[in-house]
Amino acid sequence: MIYESVEYPSACEACGAVTECSGAQVLLDDGLRWDVASSCPGCGQAFIACGRADIPADLRDRLLTEHGPTRLEIVDRSANSALLMKALRAELAGGLHQAKEMLQRVRAGGHTGTLPEVELLARRLCEAGIQARAGRP
Ligand SMILES: [Zn+2]
Repeated sequence: MIYESVEYPSACEACGAVTECSGAQVLLDDGLRWDVASSCPGCGQAFIACGRADIPADLRDRLLTEHGPTRLEIVDRSANSALLMKALRAELAGGLHQAKEMLQRVRAGGHTGTLPEVELLARRLCEAGIQARAGRP
């Protein structure tokens, strides 16, 4: 299983005591999941949240800070740009302009994200016939 997790202190919303939060992002067969959980040692209030691609920005930042960014590497440097572009567009569900920018970033080795995010993208590219992998910069 591909995942990244982080633990961090936070203030309990109910009583203000310091609670230990844990957050994680996981790559499952059908895509990304995230979750955050904490339970207060002071008042016992428990908090849990989870979702799919909609990871909260603060959790994503914590993961990137804790583990460092992962970089998407195209193994086959001669990979067909049209094929790569098509795969990126499918993944982005975005416009041509966005996909072009991303293509340039990917080609230059400058596309980074959390390990589960980049691993997912690498898998999708492999499915599209482009040899790619997630690597540490
Ligand atoms: Zn509390």
